[in-house]
Amino acid sequence: MSAGLNLNTLFRKGILLAVGNPAIESAVDKYGMQLGAARFVAGENIDEAIVNLKRLEDEGFKTNTTLLGEGIADEAEAMAVVGEYIYILDRLHAAGLKTNLSVKLTHLGLDLGEEVAYRNVERIVEHAATLGAFVRIDMEESARVDVTILIYRNLRTSGHDNVGTVLQSYLYRTERDMKMLMEYQPDLRIVKGAYLEPAEIAYPDKREVDVAYLRAVKYSLAHGGYTAVATHDDRIIDYVIEFTTRNDISQDRFEFQMLYGIRTDLQRDLLSRGYKVLIATPFGPDWYPYLMRRMAERPANLLFVARQMLPGA
Ligand SMILES: Cc1cc2nc3c(=O)[nH]c(=O)nc-3n(C[C@H](O)[C@H](O)[C@H](O)COP(=O)(O)OP(=O)(O)OC[C@H]3O[C@@H](n4cnc5c(N)ncnc54)[C@H](O)[C@@H]3O)c2cc1C
Repeated sequence: MSAGLNLNTLFRKGILLAVGNPAIESAVDKYGMQLGAARFVAGENIDEAIVNLKRLEDEGFKTNTTLLGEGIADEAEAMAVVGEYIYILDRLHAAGLKTNLSVKLTHLGLDLGEEVAYRNVERIVEHAATLGAFVRIDMEESARVDVTILIYRNLRTSGHDNVGTVLQSYLYRTERDMKMLMEYQPDLRIVKGAYLEPAEIAYPDKREVDVAYLRAVKYSLAHGGYTAVATHDDRIIDYVIEFTTRNDISQDRFEFQMLYGIRTDLQRDLLSRGYKVLIATPFGPDWYPYLMRRMAERPANLLFVARQMLPGA
């Protein structure tokens, strides 16, 4: 392992550990939006988000959005989040946007029990279906993977087809999960994984995560319904383009997905070459953990935020 890789791994761990520190959270919360969070978050409310979503759709991108938040442990609060998502769906529809949703089960009350989360996500999925919208269930920490997959399967067996989920290539178990999910011909987003996981369950070496990522994408493209290749990694994207071209896999079987504000050059390049590109465009006042995960992925993001503090920057 190179010194650079070691430093990056340490940096990532340090930042992800800081997510739980209340002092850091309150400092970042107070100044973060002015200091650069706006580069990664499309606004603090739905009106601001709609302006950005419209701009992206006008450019030709597909979009999804998320009301940022996670770890809700109060039933009334979780129900309020459901109400907000119903309102968001209505507002997106009224604005003529084709934006999908991407939701986190812990934002919908997963910590209160599987039944609460199922009931809440089902309400959103049902409402989305009446508007022709799609809902993806994000994947969170490894402790939530079993229940997330279970809820996804239960939704599908109950006849909800406008729903998809996510698998993370850093987890050893992902290959098994993917095979098991294939019977649903799922709409699967494949990511590397954004949380801090121990070596007992996740590849500690980034190169192995990348290799596992390609394996997962190839498997999904060869067997699955629809594959969302969610990465900013040029080499992986080039490989997927070469693989799909060589195997005659048509563009209605896959799309690329990237995060709002990250590698916008690559996003535009793929779009101009005729590929479908979805920009995941989150918004909301509770952007702190999301921003910290983006910092952890790339030390330069911390420098970007730090530079905003310089006069005239
Ligand atoms: C649409 C989408 C949805 C996601 N959903 C989930 C989810 O549900 N669960 C989950 O665990 N993770 C999710 N992630 C995050 C994912 O797991 C990775 O942490 C993240 O995408 C960074 O990995 P990478 O594949 O881009 O590759 P990396 O190998 O980390 O990066 C490759 C290159 O991409 C660029 N890059 C990557 N990250 C950044 C960044 N933050 N800022 C600037 N440049 C960057 C750099 O040029 C870097 O060299 C999602 C990612 C995307 C794109």
